[in-house]
Amino acid sequence: MALIVHKYGGTSMGSTERIRNVAKRVAKWARAGHQMVVVPSAMSGETNRLLALAKDLSPASITPEYQRELDMIASTGEQVSVGLLAIALQAEGMPAVSYAGWQVPIATDSAYTKARIQSIDDQRVRADLAAGKVVVITGFQGVDGDNNITTLGRGGSDTSAVAVAAALKADECLIYTDVDGVYTTDPRIVPEARRLHSISFEEMLEMASLGSKVLQIRSVEFAGKYRVPMRVLSSFTPWDIAIEEEARSGTLITFEEDAKMEQAVVSGIAFNRDEAKISLLGVPDKPGIAYQILGPVADANIDIDVIIQNVSHDGKT
Ligand code: ASP
Ligand code: MG
Repeated sequence: MALIVHKYGGTSMGSTERIRNVAKRVAKWARAGHQMVVVPSAMSGETNRLLALAKDLSPASITPEYQRELDMIASTGEQVSVGLLAIALQAEGMPAVSYAGWQVPIATDSAYTKARIQSIDDQRVRADLAAGKVVVITGFQGVDGDNNITTLGRGGSDTSAVAVAAALKADECLIYTDVDGVYTTDPRIVPEARRLHSISFEEMLEMASLGSKVLQIRSVEFAGKYRVPMRVLSSFTPWDIAIEEEARSGTLITFEEDAKMEQAVVSGIAFNRDEAKISLLGVPDKPGIAYQILGPVADANIDIDVIIQNVSHDGKT
């Protein structure tokens, strides 16, 4: 018997019919004797819809007052998902209970719309698991020290799932999504792209930071820090495929030491289409000059990805 965390993305939760399929799949794992914790996202499109309602009333603002309310609003998408999934599990004859982040609790800092998880209390969840229940926990949200609801940033349910898996020392965290794994590069652009059976955590971090949208980068960082075994797999296989087959599908994220000594040097190619390049000409070669240029840029919260210090007059580099 293992303790397994399943995470289902918005597409997998996109309709009551799909939620029923998720419930059947989870019930299959529970009936095989595993303790199951499930972390779903909001139904697809829901978070965008909720945030657009706020912007209808007042344009986006970075004030903490506005950001606090955005989290209050956006977090409800996941709350609907967990309730629906728990009901679907119960309808399958599987005892299940849902929790919002604050009920676990999943404690975060107060950085609304991009909060960081500080700790997760595992007591309530463990008691339910011991009582034979499937526990369904909201992705994406937590609670700060003053009981304000917070969210972890877009795509944050991946991070919730990995953090819950770390807190419970789960045997594996399975991220079910609308692709069947991690590819060598984007298959929509390069048809020859292949699915990787495994990828090291460091390589996955690199792919995620370069814009491969499969996983939120913070979830990969979390998995690395707490060594959470993690697998990305499709939620569109038939729910009743054999567990052994399902458990081997998708892409496993491994830790370098576990990987084979001899392996391909290049695992995948990620790329970015939204990079802007700015060249500064005639910069004097004086100590402190880089700081004078980059300091104000950093103060304005502008991210710089690549800095090349060379002389380029032809506009090509
Ligand atoms: N529902 C949130 C979002 O759309 C979190 C997630 O899906 O991971 O960003
Ligand atoms: Mg996602």
